[in-house]
Amino acid sequence: MLNESFGRSSYFTCCSAVKSSLSFLLFSPQDPTRLIIGSFLPFRFILSVWIVKMADLEAPLVRPKRKKVWVDYFVQFRWIIVIFVVLPISFTLYFLTYLGDVRSGWKSYKQRQKEHDENVKKVVKRLKERNPSKDGLVCTARKPWIAVGMRNVDYKRVRHFEVDLSAFRNILEIDQERMVAKCEPLVNMGQITRATVPLNLALAVVAELDDLTVGGLINGYGIEGSSHLYGLFSDTVVAYEIVLAGGQVVRATKDNEYSDLFYAIPWSQGTLGLLMSAEIKLIPVKEYMKLTYKPVRGNVRDLAKGYIDSFAPGFGDEDNEMVPDFVETMIYNPHEGVCMTGKYASKEEAKKKGNKINSVGWWFKPWFYQHAQTALKKGEFVEYIPTREYYHRHTRCLYWEGKLILPFADQWWFRFLLGWLMPPKVSLLKATQGEAIRNYYHENHVIQDMLVPLYKVPDALEWVDREMEVYPLWLCPHRMYKLPCKTMIYPEPGFEHERRQGDTPYAQMYTDVGVYYTPGPVFRGEVFDGCDAVRRLESWLIENHGFQPQYAVSELDEKKFWRMFDAGLYEQCRNKYGAVGTFMSVYYKCKKGRKTEKEVQEAEKAQLETPYAEVDQPMD
Ligand SMILES: Cc1cc2nc3c(=O)[nH]c(=O)nc-3n(C[C@H](O)[C@H](O)[C@H](O)COP(=O)(O)OP(=O)(O)OC[C@H]3O[C@@H](n4cnc5c(N)ncnc54)[C@H](O)[C@@H]3O)c2cc1C
Repeated sequence: MLNESFGRSSYFTCCSAVKSSLSFLLFSPQDPTRLIIGSFLPFRFILSVWIVKMADLEAPLVRPKRKKVWVDYFVQFRWIIVIFVVLPISFTLYFLTYLGDVRSGWKSYKQRQKEHDENVKKVVKRLKERNPSKDGLVCTARKPWIAVGMRNVDYKRVRHFEVDLSAFRNILEIDQERMVAKCEPLVNMGQITRATVPLNLALAVVAELDDLTVGGLINGYGIEGSSHLYGLFSDTVVAYEIVLAGGQVVRATKDNEYSDLFYAIPWSQGTLGLLMSAEIKLIPVKEYMKLTYKPVRGNVRDLAKGYIDSFAPGFGDEDNEMVPDFVETMIYNPHEGVCMTGKYASKEEAKKKGNKINSVGWWFKPWFYQHAQTALKKGEFVEYIPTREYYHRHTRCLYWEGKLILPFADQWWFRFLLGWLMPPKVSLLKATQGEAIRNYYHENHVIQDMLVPLYKVPDALEWVDREMEVYPLWLCPHRMYKLPCKTMIYPEPGFEHERRQGDTPYAQMYTDVGVYYTPGPVFRGEVFDGCDAVRRLESWLIENHGFQPQYAVSELDEKKFWRMFDAGLYEQCRNKYGAVGTFMSVYYKCKKGRKTEKEVQEAEKAQLETPYAEVDQPMD
């Protein structure tokens, strides 16, 4: 608010200064005094711009300063725990997981499938042991802090009935004829790329962090730089194997009798059934990614335009040869960004004389976002990155969050000496932070994604700049498909008639504006109410037909939650497949704060009585 009013006042200062300068320019020829003064015009103009600049610089000073508390000091010196505790344990865990993957790789697909079938039977048996009148609602036995998401997972703090899915971590098959990989839900991205890339294959959408799991990316949220072609991670799934509340095992595809369930699973957070395996689309890939880094400059709207033009053809022109295989843009500040576009390239092409190969995966290499930033100094450049290293380019530095956790870990000496220990496991970072630190992060830090229609990216960037001042920002486009039924997230009605850049008759182009970092006011030691900022961000999304992935912290009440997401198909499937009374509903699973079983069940009951959300009601 303060910023806004100050911004407005500096705008008026500028306008009046420019106006009076121009009036001098217009009238000076007739008046010698004015002519003399008029000759100082350039200086006057520079002075006015300088005043405005200074005013802008001073704007933040208007915000009141925040008093430091003990958690500030703890967070400042958190790196000590990270270096001596978190990093060594993380490294050990990564290594053990790797050994587990290797062991799993030694087994034949037949053997893995046999073990899988036995494990599914155990899950069914366990579900049937539950006594609904005595036991709590069903949850997986996964410890809350292990998930990569930032949500509190408070629902696991109340009485619940655990089902252990820890054995489901095998790739069951890579079918090169059907071009499908069958995976159990705990298969992670690092594991799948290790298995597929040597075969010149990859999942159509590979989320970047090694630790992200197939189950989480389907039931929660998954996106990558290829999502402008293939949609979200869940859009690339061909079939789900689900254990329903009653213990029935079903295979849901888009055209069998469980097609409603097939479309309802994404974003349902495991509240319709337990995912046992998924068949996911594979695509052919080459050994290298030819990546072009292009700097963009201007105001935030210019930056948004540069991003949109970097990859989006005109309406329906999706087969355009110029459409890249991979797209991402990083906005470093309100005036500068770097747009990256990638095309798969063979090793013969990459190794041609004159081409630059950059193996970004080595532990001593500069962090990827900082490397990309060099395009602002040296101008546009092209290089070839080994495909697997490209997929996981943000893993070592956790995008730019690594800079906050270990402020000096991007320095050359740290990278060479200890870079091989990076990254700290997000799960361990969460495990080593108490309630106070967790709350501190909610108030003074932002990890949110804004999924907005492509043409609204300029507005979204302006909003973030005004309200949060978080930089860098991550921009990643994704298709939002027009499906045979309305799912929790859906394109704007009638978008296909608008014929906007990036859209096709069957999908609207969206963008994930990733807002991850400490906001400007917090850096300046000023008051910043993170919860309120998130609340306003969510309202902005609702007004602009945007969505927020539920792995992040949400401040929405139930009514508003169902204004953002469509409840129709979801509620229909919860009733039809017996999930009500067995699995917690998605809002309660995402809701911040402790919730009792009674609270959840009363809400469930109320929801059954008024089954559909008041989606079309106007905003408060
Ligand atoms: C630092 C950071 C970086 C990130 N980077 C990326 C990124 O590069 N790309 C991206 O797409 N996302 C990214 N995310 C967000 C991430 O997509 C979400 O956290 C996502 O939900 C996957 O996390 P997970 O694998 O830990 O799943 P979880 O959080 O464990 O699961 C997500 C949901 O799915 C449910 N679920 C999981 N398995 C099953 C199952 N077998 N049956 C039923 N329900 C199940 C869980 O109960 C939960 O509700 C990032 C998040 C952070 C904090």
